[in-house]
Amino acid sequence: MGLEVHQFGCLSDNYGFLIHDPESGETATVDSPDAEAIDAALEEKQWRLTHILNTHHHFDHAGGNEALKQKWGCTVIGFGGDYDRIPGIDRKVAENDIVDFGGTRARVIEVAGHTSGHVAYHFEEEGMVFVGDTIFALGCGRLFEGTPQQMWSSLQKLMSLADDTIVYCAHEYTQANAAFALTVEPGNQDLLDRSEEINRLRANNIPTVPTSIGLERKTNPFLRPDSANLQSTIGLVGASPLEVFAETRRLKDNF
Ligand code: ZN
Ligand code: FE
Repeated sequence: MGLEVHQFGCLSDNYGFLIHDPESGETATVDSPDAEAIDAALEEKQWRLTHILNTHHHFDHAGGNEALKQKWGCTVIGFGGDYDRIPGIDRKVAENDIVDFGGTRARVIEVAGHTSGHVAYHFEEEGMVFVGDTIFALGCGRLFEGTPQQMWSSLQKLMSLADDTIVYCAHEYTQANAAFALTVEPGNQDLLDRSEEINRLRANNIPTVPTSIGLERKTNPFLRPDSANLQSTIGLVGASPLEVFAETRRLKDNF
């Protein structure tokens, strides 16, 4: 039997994720945006928390670490280079480290850019990846600490995963991202179709997360620097992928 993922909204626009292995009974939370909301979700599912998989140190991702660790005695896993700003960290991980979880394994992918020490957790057998604030549906994380070069190489790592990989991102930012995406790649029919679908979902308060690598490759402007339509809209015909990505990110910051 595979892993069960339980997704729930918390704080203003974060998503919480519990990953449960029915065989061993182990349960991980991806990040700790809100300890009370995570406890309520555990209670609802009757699961016991054994792991916290931190993607990065921001408060809406690691702010609940200490309360959860105190209550559950769970193991806190996070990027080793950020050990001094991830509360309660027990296991320091880096690129390609394997995290054993229940009967399965997650591989750590370093995805610096949003912060200097951001990681994603790839469950290859289950075909899913938890990306924190790196890729969003139709968007990418703001460059708070990293450079465009760092973020672009992080995005390329994630884009190299199989198209049917399910992408769990940490915020419901999709409608605002769609509005921006349409201004930079207005000729993308897949984007136009998706944006209508997103409006339908959000009008009914339905999450647009998770998404998939394949869907993002077709519609997310931050992953599409080769698009002729994008290049001409932003005035960078024939520029390098990095230049197009950096300009797209800069335009979004001012949108
Ligand atoms: Zn963040
Ligand atoms: Fe966040």
